[in-house]
Amino acid sequence: MKLHWQILVAIGLGIKRNWHIFLALIGGVIVGLLFPFQQGDSTSFHDALYFAGQAFIKLIQMIVVPLVVSAIIIGIASLGDSRQLGKIGIKMVGYYLLITVIAVIIGITLALVTSPGKGIKHKIDVQQSNLAQEKVEMIKENTSNIPGLILNMIPGSPLAEEDSSQNGMETTMVQILLAVIIFGAAFASIGEVNRPVVAFFESVFAATMKVTDWIMVIATPGIFSLTAYTVAKTGLGTIKELWVYASVILLGLALQFFVTYPLVIKLFSKIKFTSLYQAITEAMMVAFGTASSSATLPVTIACCERRAGISSKVCSFVLPLGATMNMDGTALFQSIAVIFIAQAYDITLSPLLIVLIGIFAIIASSTSAGIPSAGVITMALILQGSLKLSFEEVGQAYILVFAFDRLVDMFRTVVNVTSDAVVAAVIASNENELDQELLENNEVWKEVV
Ligand code: ASP
Repeated sequence: MKLHWQILVAIGLGIKRNWHIFLALIGGVIVGLLFPFQQGDSTSFHDALYFAGQAFIKLIQMIVVPLVVSAIIIGIASLGDSRQLGKIGIKMVGYYLLITVIAVIIGITLALVTSPGKGIKHKIDVQQSNLAQEKVEMIKENTSNIPGLILNMIPGSPLAEEDSSQNGMETTMVQILLAVIIFGAAFASIGEVNRPVVAFFESVFAATMKVTDWIMVIATPGIFSLTAYTVAKTGLGTIKELWVYASVILLGLALQFFVTYPLVIKLFSKIKFTSLYQAITEAMMVAFGTASSSATLPVTIACCERRAGISSKVCSFVLPLGATMNMDGTALFQSIAVIFIAQAYDITLSPLLIVLIGIFAIIASSTSAGIPSAGVITMALILQGSLKLSFEEVGQAYILVFAFDRLVDMFRTVVNVTSDAVVAAVIASNENELDQELLENNEVWKEVV
């Protein structure tokens, strides 16, 4: 082997594995920019990237359902008596809500101060917006009716055929969660008799974590391919025209990440946010590459248990629920995007309308599944509920937002995942469920990726 290759391999083997993922992200962006789609079409190189990226995502998705089911059953059963469960449950909902309300306030304030939507309407490509309308019609049907939306979340018979008019993965995941919570609570309340079932799910959980370790061996090429393909497909071109909008969202997400979470951690726990962030870097990077909180969940759990020292009791209850329902990054994005659209259409934003947008953003974000672009789909609920735009206008508005949603999605998913870990750490610290020594001693941390 030539000397320079030897040096490269030595560096590759020598640096910590989480750096491999980081380099994969940067490399993915560079390769995506250097080799964009040709006249909107993929080449065989892009097809290969797509294949590798999708293979990685599909493998991770394979373990999400068994992981969520087993984690929640163990979590609820090990919290034992309903008082502790209720206490942790209430704290969890309280922190998730607090963080989401702050996100919405940040989003609305930034959007009102910077007015990113003023004068943008003439940039809308009318031909493209006609093409988008079919898609929008489908989105609207699925999200505009609140009683229908709630009915979709209630789990029915597992044997019933899936109604294809519903939002597939989105409703299914919420249904699974609700069904598992109900059965978990039942197992917790029947006492000793639950031992065989809990022991069974403990084995399932251990096995899914083992499979996660195996899949993470290909995390580096997987994340590289996903990022390179996305950047090659979307490019950064559109950002030039809509750069104010994009940077307002990124600024909002940065405030949430660097100010809100450290403050919440400082006010409500005794941990250092820097140690926690360091412990969950891999989860953040996987979140960025996959743009999916659910797909990142196995890595989030591994980081929180093996490094942040959060007890498995808290992790297995708080993190799966967070990955599905706590979407503060999404709420922040949605409030900015909706105000941006209102500004593009010269809609007067009365104080009442602003509050309505905020409330709808909290509801819409928490009904978003932890999958790519879920937030942009549930945004139809806010547009319908608050702005009352005409069909054509919603279609045109979506063109603006869809244009580079994926890149924004990658950043908001990092925020969504980080906030799940922050809430889990704060609750663990309050409830004496945190191994502070492990969190602060990164020398003894196990490899996660
Ligand atoms: N992709 C986000 C997530 O998985 C959801 C969204 O689209 O905002 O957390």
